[in-house]
Amino acid sequence: MQIKRLRIAGFKSFVDPVDLVIERGLTGVVGPNGCGKSNLLEALRWTMGENSAKSLRGTGMEDVIFAGTATRPPRDFAEVSILLDAPVPGGEVAEREVVRRIERGAGSAYRIDGRDVRAKDVGLLFADAATGAHSPALVSQNRIGAVIAAKPAERRAMLEDAAGIAGLHVRRRDAEQK
Ligand code: ATP
Ligand code: MG
Repeated sequence: MQIKRLRIAGFKSFVDPVDLVIERGLTGVVGPNGCGKSNLLEALRWTMGENSAKSLRGTGMEDVIFAGTATRPPRDFAEVSILLDAPVPGGEVAEREVVRRIERGAGSAYRIDGRDVRAKDVGLLFADAATGAHSPALVSQNRIGAVIAAKPAERRAMLEDAAGIAGLHVRRRDAEQK
């Protein structure tokens, strides 16, 4: 899977719409303290389905929406789009666009290629591509220590994520419930 572009509007410090083109070989983002490096990673993770306020460094879901500054009023919504090449059955890859949007007082919703989908559909898309909101490929500032301190079962879940079989577990649970 290859993420090609991140488009962010109204998410945390990214008040104005911005496109981040992710070229092959990009390995890091540098900049002064507080410029939004961690917010970029959080935008990615949130769009992949992260709902934990703690891992998004907030207290409520709407804390991801631009809250305003001394010179700019707050926004009513945040929207993040991930453009990626994702595997499709048969070993091919296809370009997909995954969008998550949250509006104050109205909750959040997902779209894949312009169609409304469930959070679960987004989770499966990323799980099949061996990535996702909890992917070990997304290393945030406190994550190295977390890997070292993980219990065996947690570390196994990380390895399963990395191996791309997490989606199979979700489908098995679904099948068992039917
Ligand atoms: P460091 O190098 O210290 O890790 P960083 O580049 O990772 O910094 P971030 O943590 O991504 O910086 O960005 C922090 C900035 O984002 C702060 O200025 C904070 O006020 C701003 N911010 C966070 N949430 C919001 C929000 N909802 N609305 C507006 N600004 C926000
Ligand atoms: Mg940071």
